[in-house]
Amino acid sequence: ITRGNQPRSAGASGHRQGWSPFCNRLIYLKDKSILSSLLGEHYYEDESYLYVVDQSRRLLYHPDPGRVGEVVGANVVIDAIIRGENGRQRVVNSRGVDMLAGFALVPATGWGIVAQRPFDATLAGLNDLTWKVVRNTLPLGALTLIFIWWFTRLISRPLWQLADGAQHMDREGTADKLRNVRSWYHEALQIKRAMLVGIGLVNTKIGRLNRDVQTDPLTGVLNRRGLDAVLDEWRAEARPFAAIALDIDHFKRVNDTFGHDAGDSVLRNLSLTIQSCAREADIVCRLGGEEFLLLLLPSTSAASAAVVAERLRRAAAQDLVDPVGRITISLGVAALPEHGADAGMVLRMADEMLYEAKNGGRNRVVVAG
Ligand code: GH3
Ligand code: MG
Ligand code: MG
Repeated sequence: ITRGNQPRSAGASGHRQGWSPFCNRLIYLKDKSILSSLLGEHYYEDESYLYVVDQSRRLLYHPDPGRVGEVVGANVVIDAIIRGENGRQRVVNSRGVDMLAGFALVPATGWGIVAQRPFDATLAGLNDLTWKVVRNTLPLGALTLIFIWWFTRLISRPLWQLADGAQHMDREGTADKLRNVRSWYHEALQIKRAMLVGIGLVNTKIGRLNRDVQTDPLTGVLNRRGLDAVLDEWRAEARPFAAIALDIDHFKRVNDTFGHDAGDSVLRNLSLTIQSCAREADIVCRLGGEEFLLLLLPSTSAASAAVVAERLRRAAAQDLVDPVGRITISLGVAALPEHGADAGMVLRMADEMLYEAKNGGRNRVVVAG
């Protein structure tokens, strides 16, 4: 392989025949050749380039024209080409640049074609690609995350509300709160229904227990606890009221003569008579272990209560309870605030009036003066 005018001049001087086999293998490396016009186009701005070597390690083409014809020394890629290999390799080129090289042997000529690209430029492209992927997927990823978050909230919301309701089952209004929970899917709806049924049962049970706790089992009227609850309420409202304390006359005799069960019947009957004489807002109670009964009349004066007491006395005296027959009762009347500064004082005053009625001969009403 050579360069210059000699072959051309030889051809021109008529020895073309003699040159011809050699001429077939002749390339003008430094001139513009088909190699340079084909391969030169691949000389990129990022310093990628192609070069061609022959089996004697001579550069047949290199983007740097000054290097064409140079015999390259130690070079792993060229070594591999001479061994007849095709492949790829990471190399440091003659200028000390870290390169990624791909190489192929052209078997017909024994030439090796090497494409090299700086390692950094390759990675820079990769980084660009990575950023592009991130930029393109980030909005969709964020949107997906927001959707997942929103959907999870939508699912968990009724469960949170139901759980909150479960923690405050005993509070008033919990059932209404649960009813308002938007259970938009089957499972939450089932839980909500089950909880509402549960609350209904609990409330019924609590209601029954409350009633039991505040009720006298024999007569069904309020007991001491029930009376205290009513008085607390009236005290909070600063509500005036009248109290009628009443006691069966000679009740011991009834028990002694007709037995305890007959005595119970008399007590039950008397509580019914009192309730029938009372208005709806009036409170009837029986305080522990005694046959003693009490009637509370809200927003009522002592004088009005005295009228009610008298009516009660007559009604009780007319009742006939088998086998006891007729009984009489004695009654004492006092009112708040006329006869006492608080409920306790008024009840004690009514009790005192009751004993005055007993002392006065029984079967009568005594009103506090
Ligand atoms: P007084 O006219 O003075 O009231 O005479 P009394 O015999 O009624 O005397 P007192 O009120 O002190 O006696 C109450 C009696 O009532 C005593 C008790 O055995 C009876 N007793 C109290 N609770 C009950 C009850 O639940 N059932 C029955 N059968 N008797 C009761
Ligand atoms: Mg009595
Ligand atoms: Mg008594």
